[in-house]
Amino acid sequence: MKIFPSRTELCLVPLRDMVIFPNMVVPFFVGRKKSIRAVQEAMGKGKLLFLATQKHNNEEEPGEEDIYPIGTVARILQMLKLPDGTIRLLVEGNERANIVRYLESQAYFKVQVRTIEENPNIAADVSALTRTVVNEFNRYNALYKKIPKEILAGIEKVDSPHKLVNMIGSNIPIKVEKKIELLSQVDIRQRLENLATALAMETQVLEIEQKITSKVRKRIQKTQKEYFLQEQLKEIHKELGSDKDDPTGVKDLEKKLKAKNLPDDVHQKCDKELKRLARMQPISPESAVLRTYLEWIVDLPWTESTQEIRDIEYARRILDEDHYDLKKVKERVLDFIAVRLLNRDQAKGPILCFVGPPGTGKTSLGKSVARALGRNFVRISLGGVRDEAEIRGHRKTYVGALPGKILQSMRKAQSRNPVFLLDEVDKMSSDFRGDPASALLEVLDPEQNSTFMDHYLEVQYDLSRVMFITTANSVHNIPYPLRDRMEIIHIPGYSELEKLKIAQAFLIPKQIEANGLSWAKISFQEAAIRKIIQNYTMESGVRNLERQIATVLRKIARQAVKKGLPAAPPPADAISTEPESPQAVPRETEETETRQKSPEGDHGQGQTEPAEKKPAKPAKRFSITVTPKRISEYLGNESYQEKMLDPTAKPGLVYGLAWTELGGRLLPVEVALLEGKGELILTGSLGEVMKESAQTALSFLRANADELKIPPDFSKERDIHIHVPEGSIPKDGPSAGITISAALLSALRNRAVQKGFAMTGEITLTGRLLPIGGIKEKVLAAHRNRMTDVLIPEMNRKDIEELPREVRTTMNFHLAETILEALLILFPQKSKSR
Ligand code: ADP
Repeated sequence: MKIFPSRTELCLVPLRDMVIFPNMVVPFFVGRKKSIRAVQEAMGKGKLLFLATQKHNNEEEPGEEDIYPIGTVARILQMLKLPDGTIRLLVEGNERANIVRYLESQAYFKVQVRTIEENPNIAADVSALTRTVVNEFNRYNALYKKIPKEILAGIEKVDSPHKLVNMIGSNIPIKVEKKIELLSQVDIRQRLENLATALAMETQVLEIEQKITSKVRKRIQKTQKEYFLQEQLKEIHKELGSDKDDPTGVKDLEKKLKAKNLPDDVHQKCDKELKRLARMQPISPESAVLRTYLEWIVDLPWTESTQEIRDIEYARRILDEDHYDLKKVKERVLDFIAVRLLNRDQAKGPILCFVGPPGTGKTSLGKSVARALGRNFVRISLGGVRDEAEIRGHRKTYVGALPGKILQSMRKAQSRNPVFLLDEVDKMSSDFRGDPASALLEVLDPEQNSTFMDHYLEVQYDLSRVMFITTANSVHNIPYPLRDRMEIIHIPGYSELEKLKIAQAFLIPKQIEANGLSWAKISFQEAAIRKIIQNYTMESGVRNLERQIATVLRKIARQAVKKGLPAAPPPADAISTEPESPQAVPRETEETETRQKSPEGDHGQGQTEPAEKKPAKPAKRFSITVTPKRISEYLGNESYQEKMLDPTAKPGLVYGLAWTELGGRLLPVEVALLEGKGELILTGSLGEVMKESAQTALSFLRANADELKIPPDFSKERDIHIHVPEGSIPKDGPSAGITISAALLSALRNRAVQKGFAMTGEITLTGRLLPIGGIKEKVLAAHRNRMTDVLIPEMNRKDIEELPREVRTTMNFHLAETILEALLILFPQKSKSR
């Protein structure tokens, strides 16, 4: 619908940076004087205005040539004068028109225009183009998302292609030149194509823009995430106290490894592992495993060693200083050391092995050897080790894997030449997990141990400079291949006198020191020590003795502290200046029990003084003498007195002697004769060999009934029951043969053997008495148990020489070559003492 003639005169307002299309309602401000005048003029002339865009945005006073010759005839819908003189206009575009000529340019612009005819064209290609434009617009709108809903609704309802171009063209942010082009084109096909192209291009630009935006956003997010994680990591390291510049610890490890002077192959391996570690996430479990591994390598002594003392006299002094007596043992140890010192580089000699009951000083001898040679000392216990991996470690792929006991101790030793004590080699066992003994063999074999392989370490470690010493309670249980390599030194146990001397010279001073009592004056009466030995311990070694002495000293320490005395000696001048307080410092006489005052009246017994040095200025000190009475107070009930066996034998009860890993012990054998059919009953956990001994004894007695003056058919109508008490303890070995024979005879004759007799010896059917082992331990056990006489096979005569003097001189030894000879001694007409 045409509302004004095609050629008409209208006032013109030049627009900056905007193009107004027909059918659009647009608000804008008018500020330039010329334009305000034009608007005012138009208001009086039917409110029609011609709106054309100026070519250059920044032109304040555009001339005719500065304005595009195309524009839109618009109706002023609203005019608002603002206080600053500018006008706000709301206009509606009606028709496009070309400027034919300018009628006025001075006061304001007035132009004659010719409207552009818009024929409604509904040709098929136009419809197709229209649809293309709509599609393009939808794609565009999906990305742009800024076109108001009302406009979108209007576009949907639009009925003519020109209107469509006008509406879309005026609402998309394309360049002014493009808009002018759209506005000026007459042919609808051209207009639609032009718009479609513009839309497609805009969509593409938007797509690219979005892609870039999302990439940028992602990058920002990633950097933010990394930043965030880095910050977190820093905090974690701060919390853990680790170095933030070296979170993996690689630099630190590298420095330490460099300082280590490692063998070439180890060095190469470490370099490789360090590189791997550097590539790992510092908080990953793998890196922790690798770090631990490298730390192990750093901590092991590869080249560090202590300066060896090569002085055999010094070694002798040290051994004497640390141990009482043990002359033979010390001699053999010194021989061994001498050979080691001569053969330093090969160290191919045998391995020392101390064998003996617990508490006989095996471990402490090992320590002394280390001290004597100026080497460090480490010790592992092999008791109960049954898995090869305990010696050799687990591969580091196992969770929580570690090197084996050998290398763990080498780390503790901190030098490659320590004295390494392998305790209880006889207590190893083996099962399906591999034989620890064979791994140990490799450790001990000088041919192999320079290239010892631990599963965890994966590189060879040189153990050839280590001095291995082993200990065992019994030789029999040491795996044969190991025993073969060892030089066995027996330490058989101590007599009471030896124990007394050890206590006086070593254990008491050591425990006084250990219990913080060096400042006090403590002496043990000899009778008190003997009381501990006899009534509170029953052992071959001195371990329990030491323990009991420690208990006594703890009680004394408590007493001392109760008196308010310092645990350490006060400085000499502090004592002299302080006023004397009777409570704080008890008078010497109060706590001292002199020998004369002793209620037990052990006159004539010596006193033991601790060997510690006296301070230069003797202050009043806590002092105490330990008497047998005090021992009862401190240690309570006597553990062994009641258990002590009565040395008086009864008919059918005879004392034998047995050897055990814990030392010798008295072995009572009981025989009872019962009504029956000649059965032999054996009880008390007897082993096969012992059962056979019983049968041999019985057969021998039957065969020699006449000579022994017993009825020859004694076993026909009677059952014979042989019992060895402490039934739950397994017993075995042939050495009870003579004891069983004596017990049988004693029962048959209903006569006790001589009082105070203990015996040992293997018997044969033909009546010989064969030698047995462990004489020293057995005789010491008899002595401990107050036996006065010992009967042993003649062939063990030489062993008597080995016994301590006090035992030799206080006991009677009876030697017999045959069973008959022995039985004659035990059931005498006259005794035969040698
Ligand atoms: P083992 O290893 O044989 O079981 P230890 O070496 O542990 O025994 O000895 C136990 C305690 O007895 C240690 O304190 C040790 O010093 C001491 N001891 C053992 N024998 C003697 C000895 N002949 N002289 C001095 N002290 C000894």
